[in-house]
Amino acid sequence: MKADLIGLLFPRRCPVCHDVVEDRGERICRICRLRLPYVREPSCRKCGKPLYAEEKEYCRDCASGKHVFRQGRAPFVYDEIMRRSVSRFKYGGRREYASFYAEEILRKCGREAALWKAEAFIPIPLHPSRRRKRGFNQAELLARELSKRTGIPADAGVLFRVKKTRVQKELNREERAANLKGAFSLGKGTLPYKKVILIDDIYTTGSTVDEAARILREGGADSVYFLCICVGRGN
Ligand SMILES: [Zn+2]
Ligand SMILES: [Zn+2]
Repeated sequence: MKADLIGLLFPRRCPVCHDVVEDRGERICRICRLRLPYVREPSCRKCGKPLYAEEKEYCRDCASGKHVFRQGRAPFVYDEIMRRSVSRFKYGGRREYASFYAEEILRKCGREAALWKAEAFIPIPLHPSRRRKRGFNQAELLARELSKRTGIPADAGVLFRVKKTRVQKELNREERAANLKGAFSLGKGTLPYKKVILIDDIYTTGSTVDEAARILREGGADSVYFLCICVGRGN
């Protein structure tokens, strides 16, 4: 009854076409579901990006062996559809997409992620000033939705953004690394977990996840994984 009323007052919008979803109880239009750019095999065994050569196991980035995180997965490729969807989620006030993304992450990547035996989901933090401006941290919303469905706690109180960084997408690989240097810090100095999963919206070069993983490992984590909504394309 209460859910019905909320549904009437605030009809759920589709994370692809952004129209009101006609099918009751659904999070996405039936037709839009067919347009979702799921990651297909073969994909990189480490970062989960789709690969274009059957014989390879790793993307070029991961083959060079410089990542700090252990493994990561995302259900979707970051194409134009997902770019629009995630941008409405972050900047257009469509917080309800978090539950859709969390369900897709678990449906597509949950089985692998369960093998990681993580003790906590840790959202990539925003700088307090950016968080204030946006009103929420999208990674934190996602971590909470994942937590609800798995029972693994979401902990937004261990990793903090202490430096205002520039928007990563405008920067090349070297600039990204420099931009992120000193960006994160651990609140209490040491971490109460050994295995954690970082949560972010998009994985592209991995510089953000790597820098956060480096700090978490300094704090005592031995395995840092990630789950995202989307990954860029591999090569
Ligand atoms: Zn739709
Ligand atoms: Zn990779």
